[in-house]
Amino acid sequence: MAAQTARRATPQPGCKAEGARAFIGYPLRPRMRYNPRMPAVQRSFRIRAYPNPAQIRMLNQWYGSARWLWNWALDMRTKAYQRRKESLTSIAVSRKLTKLKTVPKFSWLAKVPATCLTQCLRDQDRAFANFFRRVKAGETPGYPRFKARQMNGSLRFQDVSEVKWLGGAVSLPKLGRMKLAENLPAIACPDTVTLKREADGRYYVSFCATVEIALLPVVASVIGVDLGLTHLATLSSCEKIENPRHLNNRLRYLRQQQRCLARRVKGSKRREQQRLRVARAHSAVANQRSYALHVLTTKLVREHQIICIENLAVRNMIKNPRLARHIADAGWGEFRRMIEYKAKWYGRTVIAVDRWFPSSKTCGKCKHVVDELRLNVRQWTCPKCGTVHDRDINAAQNLLLAGMSELGGGERRDLGVDGAVVDAPREAPPGQLMSECLEHERVN
Ligand SMILES: [Zn+2]
Repeated sequence: MAAQTARRATPQPGCKAEGARAFIGYPLRPRMRYNPRMPAVQRSFRIRAYPNPAQIRMLNQWYGSARWLWNWALDMRTKAYQRRKESLTSIAVSRKLTKLKTVPKFSWLAKVPATCLTQCLRDQDRAFANFFRRVKAGETPGYPRFKARQMNGSLRFQDVSEVKWLGGAVSLPKLGRMKLAENLPAIACPDTVTLKREADGRYYVSFCATVEIALLPVVASVIGVDLGLTHLATLSSCEKIENPRHLNNRLRYLRQQQRCLARRVKGSKRREQQRLRVARAHSAVANQRSYALHVLTTKLVREHQIICIENLAVRNMIKNPRLARHIADAGWGEFRRMIEYKAKWYGRTVIAVDRWFPSSKTCGKCKHVVDELRLNVRQWTCPKCGTVHDRDINAAQNLLLAGMSELGGGERRDLGVDGAVVDAPREAPPGQLMSECLEHERVN
């Protein structure tokens, strides 16, 4: 139970300079032996916030001011370049803004916390930097765009009150205390806090902090994971995880509601109500998806030491117009991102197997590679050894073997040609194997 009390430890004094630190993690089971090493990791938090009506009125104005500033600065920068071939920096724009605030007509700008406006100009700097980077790289440039009047917005606050940081509320400059859905974690107050309003009208505070997370105890289990559409994930242990298809389930409702929105008169009250209904349905789908992925990835990371996955080019696959929606709905990219950062937190190893490795088409028993295996073939018989394979389970088991051979130094070994004997990972002495894996993790 020592770890339990350690999690509740108060932030050390003077830790603001080196970043906020705390001990947090998932609830610990008392009998598990935890690795004493607690690596410090950067972690981002996102917590729902509940501003009161007065704060909402204020925020509406502030989001509007930030949007106006963005458009004003973008217009000025564009014209400066078109007329004089001059590129303005955010510092130059900032100086003009300071002058503007003294003009009585623009006195409302002074009501917004000055740091929020500075951050808004910084964001624009980054938008321009990204634009020039894309131009240089020969990609589609995408010039920074004017912001339309919309319901979502974001403000970044500095000088968040340190005194009132903890205890289920956050205190922001000029806004005061704001209730939160969760208690803030036991970390020192970060330098900047973002307050975001989503399209569905919900507010969230988000911030970044350095925290220490206890490594999970080493377990002697390895797994291969094959991602798919009929089943979201198939494990090499023959377990199949259903694809929940959250978007697909709500598609009919979403279409109805979106059609209804299109018929509403622009600027009317009923249109605004309908817009909220659509936005809420979309965010419900997104929340369900992310919840299911969190449950799956946390379970995999807790139960297995090494996880072999396929290095999928999700960005390219999503270009396929017939599969795009389904791939995006399954959330393969997000699965990969989650499993990688969780593995890093808890001291697990994730091996991404080369995407050209024919995991589905290779026979797991005799390593024979068939020429073609169409997507609708869910079960096939190896022409060489006659084994009947379930497509996904076979692929997951091949991924596991390929991942383990990559880890063992036999990279790019052509399993089809030399019929290599890959060490069966479960039979290797677990202590030795696992220590090697941990070495691998530390070296990288
Ligand atoms: Zn075979």
